[in-house]
Amino acid sequence: GLPADVDAVEHLITELVVTPDERAEHAARRAMDAGLPPIEVAPNHGKLLHLLVAMSGARRVLEIGTLAGYSTIWMASALPPGGKLVTIDNEPRHARIAAENIAEAGLSDAVDLRIGDATTILEELARSAPTADSFDFVFIDADKENIPEYLRLALSLCGDGAVVVLDNAVWHGAIVDAADHAAQGIRAGLELLGSEPRFDATVIQTVGTKGWDGFAIARVRSARRQGEP
Ligand code: SAM
Repeated sequence: GLPADVDAVEHLITELVVTPDERAEHAARRAMDAGLPPIEVAPNHGKLLHLLVAMSGARRVLEIGTLAGYSTIWMASALPPGGKLVTIDNEPRHARIAAENIAEAGLSDAVDLRIGDATTILEELARSAPTADSFDFVFIDADKENIPEYLRLALSLCGDGAVVVLDNAVWHGAIVDAADHAAQGIRAGLELLGSEPRFDATVIQTVGTKGWDGFAIARVRSARRQGEP
């Protein structure tokens, strides 16, 4: 048999390598105490988001699906001075706890929390920012049915070189049969990531306390073809 299970490995690497952001862990505890569903990313995945924001040099981050602000805190703490993060959630109870967590983390100046349906808010953002370079990093982690729509809207809000990260890209393997609406939404999103010329993407499978899942990571390419002005 194996010497340990995937949860034990996750706890070990979190302890040895990740050094979780205490503000983010506090946010997760408050969310749990308030009875919110424990569906925030794992600490090592939060750290991945933090590193991706830092490595890409992002200054304007968009997050779809705030919950209690756990991933928000991981990403916002990687922004350079003056950097901004817009995060959207349609559940006022989640947003209220997220606002407390973000304030306590000292990130209220950097984070703009919007309460409402993500598609509606993204369409408003696209109308008010027609230059298509409002964001250089997008994290999608809300309802799965609307993933293709979120990806299309992300394209209209991002410029060349932007990074798009999609959580739950494997969904316990359910993307293969795609028997329910959530799996169908994810699968359609993956098809878009593979077929839309402006996306250059891959998917990494993950295991751990959040089960068997994965991240899709994409880079947005210029709408112009290579060699064109
Ligand atoms: N990103 C968070 C983290 O890792 O800490 C977890 C987000 S949780 C998985 C998904 C969130 O998306 C929930 O808080 C839910 O209320 C929100 N949500 C679901 N459908 C939405 C919609 N149509 N518009 C905006 N938010 C939505």
